[in-house]
Amino acid sequence: MKHFDVLVVGGGHAGAEAAAAAARIGVRTALVTMRAETIGVMSCNPAIGGLGKGHLVREIDAMDGIMGRAGDMAGIQYRLLNRRKGPAVQGPRTQADRKLYRRAVQSLLAEETCLSVIEGEAAELITLAGRVTGLRLADGSEISAAAIVLTTGTFLNGLIHVGDQSRPGGRVGDKASVRLAQQIHDLGLETGRLKTGTPPRLDGKSIDWSRLEMQPADEDPVLLSFMNNKPVARQISCGITHTSAATHQIIRDNLNRSAMYGGHIDGVGPRYCPSIEDKVVRFADKDSHQVFLEPEGLDDDTVYPNGISTSLPAEVQEAYVRTMAGLENATILQPGYAIEYDYLDPRGLKSSLETKALAGLYLAGQINGTTGYEEAAAQGMVAGLNAARASKAQEPVSFSRSDSYIGVMIDDLVTRGVTEPYRMFTSRAEYRLSLRADNADQRLTPKGQEIGCVREARSRAFGAKMEALGAVTEVLAAAKFTPKELAEVGITVSKDGARRTAWDLMAMPDYDPAILDLLVPALADHPAAARAQAEIESLYSQYTDRQAAAAEELRRHEAMKIPADFDYAALSGLSAELTGKLLRKLPETIQQARQIEGMTPAAVMLLIASLRKIAAARLAG
Ligand code: FAD
Repeated sequence: MKHFDVLVVGGGHAGAEAAAAAARIGVRTALVTMRAETIGVMSCNPAIGGLGKGHLVREIDAMDGIMGRAGDMAGIQYRLLNRRKGPAVQGPRTQADRKLYRRAVQSLLAEETCLSVIEGEAAELITLAGRVTGLRLADGSEISAAAIVLTTGTFLNGLIHVGDQSRPGGRVGDKASVRLAQQIHDLGLETGRLKTGTPPRLDGKSIDWSRLEMQPADEDPVLLSFMNNKPVARQISCGITHTSAATHQIIRDNLNRSAMYGGHIDGVGPRYCPSIEDKVVRFADKDSHQVFLEPEGLDDDTVYPNGISTSLPAEVQEAYVRTMAGLENATILQPGYAIEYDYLDPRGLKSSLETKALAGLYLAGQINGTTGYEEAAAQGMVAGLNAARASKAQEPVSFSRSDSYIGVMIDDLVTRGVTEPYRMFTSRAEYRLSLRADNADQRLTPKGQEIGCVREARSRAFGAKMEALGAVTEVLAAAKFTPKELAEVGITVSKDGARRTAWDLMAMPDYDPAILDLLVPALADHPAAARAQAEIESLYSQYTDRQAAAAEELRRHEAMKIPADFDYAALSGLSAELTGKLLRKLPETIQQARQIEGMTPAAVMLLIASLRKIAAARLAG
């Protein structure tokens, strides 16, 4: 029987990252997947990164993972989201050429000398005395392993729906994973049902692009990986159209034929990625929704209409698509569909992503109730690293809420569980001012170096970056100016006699780089990138104490009691979604409120402030 230290089941985003991570640690790893040619396939939108998600990509990259580098090998339209807001909430994103992305993932995996790929369906886990010892494939062959990472995505008991037609499938073109799902049920692991959907794909040749507003790529692209600074692929624009009153009418008239609305689906769908049916019903007062028309590749005419995922019958999809400007003659290459699948309750996991029930079994990705490539990849990396470390009898590596979005996500999953597909948002993090995309390497590369998953090229690049940042910071801290000296160059500060450093000046609201150049000519000798990083560090350094105090405040109030008759509906600033959840759960303490899925630090602070006001009024009365 073949033996590996780590076996990874699944070649999606979680599986690819898990396999690469285990192999980087240097243990013998195999990736078992149904079809090797589909390793790295993007099941839905052709894009990597975005708000919250771009942070995860950078964190994976900081640990020398593959998603950022693969994204950069395929990036055809870079856009830094939230560019006008502060760097803490900016999200690097690129549209990706589907074919180039898949090839990039496969070629990065091929570079891993400790990794083998095995084509086959994992049918059964082999277990002995409460731990996994191997895998039985559908062809009857067996492989033994010290640890197994399951990353089967939407495939467990996957059911595809288009209108009132449904059929088993892991996604279009792939069969569902039924035997493994059955065994998981038999093992008594807690499971639930979720759903997601995808839009129809359009033929770009049938679109009248001249009628559309076009959105170009950024002129100064921000790449996904710390190792890259220039796109390799040609940059393209995407088109923008809108749904119309006619679109909404067709959808309303056919709601009972939608799989999601016609009662054919039990699973809960992603609130933050709603189908067009959901949008028309939930936002009935809106007469139009924006739709981005994203080309799926440089030499591919397929277009992904971002914003209209659906499970209506194919002919209804065609009718409503044609009501949008520029799409009057559009032809559909592949209808949109919904998929329903089993997930495992992530509260059954340790924060290493090992299951509590079965030693040596790790889970990562959509199987844990998350949605999105980036969320899957980040979990895959953690599970792969920990499976590899376990195979060497080493302690798991941990990520915390204060060091990474990876830590936020894992803590949310294992403590709160999910009732709907979980996706990352910056609002989930209480330390978001220090968990920035720009400093993911400063936060995590040293951790990666310590556990041995960061290779030499990155270590060298990181060392050089830190050296340059240290040198420029030293110059900035050493250059000091009196209020009078500053007044001479037009900078007004209070005349308190205190000398300000150049580092302090960078954080001032009317900071002018040209004046700093005049004041500190030595800055010209330092690289622009180091200086730009120092500017961000200086800006945020004044807030980090406040942020730590706010996080401490949350912790200190955990025991605070919430009266049973507390009027959540009167709490302005709380979303309808959270108000509903609080009313259903009626938490007795702040700690219980914090455990509710989706509760953000800002929402908890609102609750604390209101309870304090009530207590103060009671005391005064
Ligand atoms: P996947 O990418 O699904 O990979 C699973 C892998 O496991 C595949 O390689 C498969 O071959 C393999 N596999 C499964 N079972 C077995 C087995 N028994 N043996 C061997 N190999 C096996 N995300 C969003 O963020 N927004 C969206 O709007 C969105 N819409 C989606 C719509 C659809 C129709 C689908 C299918 C997915 C959608 N997603 C969306 C989800 C996104 O595709 C996933 O979150 C992401 O791909 C999950 O990655 P993963 O690695 O967990 O699983």
